[in-house]
Amino acid sequence: MQPENTIINCGCGACYEREVRVLPIKDIGLFECTDCGARLEIWSGRSVPVFKRIKSEAAQKRSA
Ligand SMILES: [Zn+2]
Repeated sequence: MQPENTIINCGCGACYEREVRVLPIKDIGLFECTDCGARLEIWSGRSVPVFKRIKSEAAQKRSA
């Protein structure tokens, strides 16, 4: 099975790579944007998302 990877774009322009991990126990948590503090996701259960900050395409290709 392939891991489910998604790109999350926050309203402030920050980009995160989202990957779902399955834990042996239930977990409750939330993820907030490290730049603006916006709440991007809340989870409860054994499938929890893991977020990794990535460079946004907009920042790399600002002239486009
Ligand atoms: Zn943000």
